[in-house]
Amino acid sequence: MFRRQFAALILLFTLLAPFAAFGQQPQGPQQPAPDPNDPIVRIKDEGMNRSQVMQTLSYLSDVIGPRLTASPNMKRACEWTRDTMTKWGLQNAHLEAWGPFGRGWSLKRFSAQVTDPQDFPLIAYPKAWSPGTSGPLSAEVVYFDAKNEEDMARFQGQLKGKIVMTAPMREVKARFEAPGTRRDEKNLLALANAPMPRPAGRGGFGGNRNPDFLAQAQFAAKKNQFFVDEGAALLVDSSRGDGGTIFVQSATVPQPFSPNAFGPNAPRRINPYDKDAPKIVPQMVVAVEHYNRIARMIQAGEKVKMEVNLAVEWQDQDLSGYNTVAEIPGSDPQLKDELVMLGGHMDSWHSGTGATDNGAGVAVGMEAVRIIQTLGLKPRRTIRIALWTGEEEGLLGSRAYVAQHFGRLETSTTAATPPAASDGATATPRRGGSDGNAVASPGPAPAPALIKMPEYDKLAGYFNLDNGTGKIRGVYLQGNESIAGLFRQWLAPFRDLGAETLSLSNTGGTDHLSFDGIGLPGFQFIQDEIEYDSRTHHSNMDVFDRIQADDMKQAATIMAAFVYNTAMRDDKLPRKSAPGR
Ligand SMILES: [Zn+2]
Repeated sequence: MFRRQFAALILLFTLLAPFAAFGQQPQGPQQPAPDPNDPIVRIKDEGMNRSQVMQTLSYLSDVIGPRLTASPNMKRACEWTRDTMTKWGLQNAHLEAWGPFGRGWSLKRFSAQVTDPQDFPLIAYPKAWSPGTSGPLSAEVVYFDAKNEEDMARFQGQLKGKIVMTAPMREVKARFEAPGTRRDEKNLLALANAPMPRPAGRGGFGGNRNPDFLAQAQFAAKKNQFFVDEGAALLVDSSRGDGGTIFVQSATVPQPFSPNAFGPNAPRRINPYDKDAPKIVPQMVVAVEHYNRIARMIQAGEKVKMEVNLAVEWQDQDLSGYNTVAEIPGSDPQLKDELVMLGGHMDSWHSGTGATDNGAGVAVGMEAVRIIQTLGLKPRRTIRIALWTGEEEGLLGSRAYVAQHFGRLETSTTAATPPAASDGATATPRRGGSDGNAVASPGPAPAPALIKMPEYDKLAGYFNLDNGTGKIRGVYLQGNESIAGLFRQWLAPFRDLGAETLSLSNTGGTDHLSFDGIGLPGFQFIQDEIEYDSRTHHSNMDVFDRIQADDMKQAATIMAAFVYNTAMRDDKLPRKSAPGR
């Protein structure tokens, strides 16, 4: 208790009176000119004045485009990042397979419009891994507004060959607040004062067993199976978002309902990319304003027809996923076998170009190593960048990598790590702020055993950036109090760039969890929100033009400094106590 309050006080005090309190960073008119040979000064100069981060991101998002895991674009991004870093002088750049993941999917052609009682085009997008329509599909539209099984019975025999609107109408409200925000003093102070997070942090759906939730889940499962059984030709969902922004993820696969669906021994979810996934109905998302209009037309007694043409291509040859890995070798004979890692994830959803999620993190990570390489800084430890894939389906690429190189938690009953937090799997709700997504609960299970791999004791630290385009404002400490003093010192040269907050809290939903989960020091930076939740995260507007160039430069510069500092100190970063037995 005392420690907790004490830590919060220190953080608060530092934030409010940083100069007077610790005097680590001489400031003000008396300050001597920065030493141009100081590596951090040089990193700042290169990163802020000769940045290439936007070129990197433009190629990744504009030229390569959306990067759904296992798609041809994904493979191209893996190879392009590998080759680009090789060109920059990094060593040992290669792809590392993980998996098997499942089938690749790419969109070949798509159009959707209403044709009766009048013609109008729709703002719409197919869901990922949806089957195609085998040529243009022209059919009557049914508004399926059943709220329970009784309602559902009304639709028996009514859906065959029809285009079915499966979601209720949703009210659209005017927006009086700006969609983009930066963290203000109040928000940063709340982060700095966040209490020590609860240990283990495996809450999530395990606790969500209230009867309403289970009844809803059960109805959803029945509904999805009903559409298949009744022979619907296409399913239409209404989009979250408005004003032309639509959010699109995976196609839904009917799951066998189990009351334990969100518990510790839940049956494995069937994914639309599974090699042996059952045949499903084609699926798309329509902008809420168009969706509501069609529903109202039907309610007014109109017979509405739609024409949808969806052509997709499947890739079944190679079911593996790949991470790109490259290194700047360490120079200290004693420390060069130790590692500092950094990364972000290359895979994205398919309706935008994955610019903020997470082309931004990939470009920032690549730029950080480019800065260090270009300046000829010789890190004592080896710096290893890993660009992940399969993140959107549940941190799959980083989890596999960590299990292979560093270790895993193994429970005797399941002989497997409990499912990790997922950034975008169908089972998870949308991300809300810093708490990310929940982790499936293992419930009161016996403590798992930590199985260490050879590199477990060699990792000094891992740094991740995956909360969009916003600049870095500080670091989530993941409950690792012992690291606060060090990070405070490392942030000091970047106070003028807005980065000075340390929060004891956890953040979820990004690849640092794969490291943190087995007790390795893995960190995600605190970033400004910008338009992440309101506009870009998993939407058709996750595109290059929503990227803020100055934020990207700042983030890459700070990432480079943190990685470099970690590579240079005598000791590895302090760790929390290891989980498991
Ligand atoms: Zn995501």
